[in-house]
Amino acid sequence: MLIVSFSIVHLRIKLSQMRIGVDLDGVVANFTKGWTKYYEEEFGKKILEDNITSWGLSKPLTHFKEDVDFWKWAKDINGSSIFRNLEVYDGSVETLNELSKSGHEIVILSSKPWWSIHDTLIWLGENKIPTKEIHFIEDKWTVDCDVYIDDAPYQLENFMKKVPNKKIIRYVRSYNKPIDGVFDISNWNELIPLLNSF
Ligand SMILES: [Mg+2]
Repeated sequence: MLIVSFSIVHLRIKLSQMRIGVDLDGVVANFTKGWTKYYEEEFGKKILEDNITSWGLSKPLTHFKEDVDFWKWAKDINGSSIFRNLEVYDGSVETLNELSKSGHEIVILSSKPWWSIHDTLIWLGENKIPTKEIHFIEDKWTVDCDVYIDDAPYQLENFMKKVPNKKIIRYVRSYNKPIDGVFDISNWNELIPLLNSF
C-alpha cells in the first residue's frame, strides 16, 4: 500500500509540471520602452506606449517607410543592437524564477532578426533568466509546450490555429486585442494564479 501511495504522489508532482513557452519582447523584455527611448534621442519624437495601437513599427507610428527600415536602424544603436540593453518588466524574472523552482520548465520562444541573437543570449545571461532551452523561431507552435505566453497578435492567432488544445496566454498590450479562447494577463503577478487554475 505504501508503494502505491508513493507512486500516486509522484504522478501528481509529474502532472503539475508544465513546459511554459515564454516570448521575450513585450513579455519579459521591455522592447517598447527601449526603442522609443532611443528613437526620441535620435529623431526627437516622443512615442508613448498607448500610441502603439497596432502591430508594426513603420509609418505612421515612426518615420520609417517599412518595418525593414526600422530594423536597419535598430540593428546598430551606439554600437549594439536594440536588444542588448532592454529593461525587464516588473515581476517577470521573479515570477519565472518561482515557476522554475516549482519544477516547471521555462522555454524561451523568441522570433528575432538573425543579427540580434548574440545580444539576446548575453541579455538572457545578464538578466539571469531561468531557462535551459532557448529557441529563436518564427513557428513557435512547433516547439511543444503546455502553455504559451506571447504579445504578438499573429503569434497568438497561430497558436490558436495550430495548437488550440494548449493553454495560450496573451500578455495584454496596447497593440493586441482579445482573442476567443486565449487567456489574458496584464501583469506578471497574474500568471501563477492563472496557471494554478488550469
Ligand atoms: Mg513579443
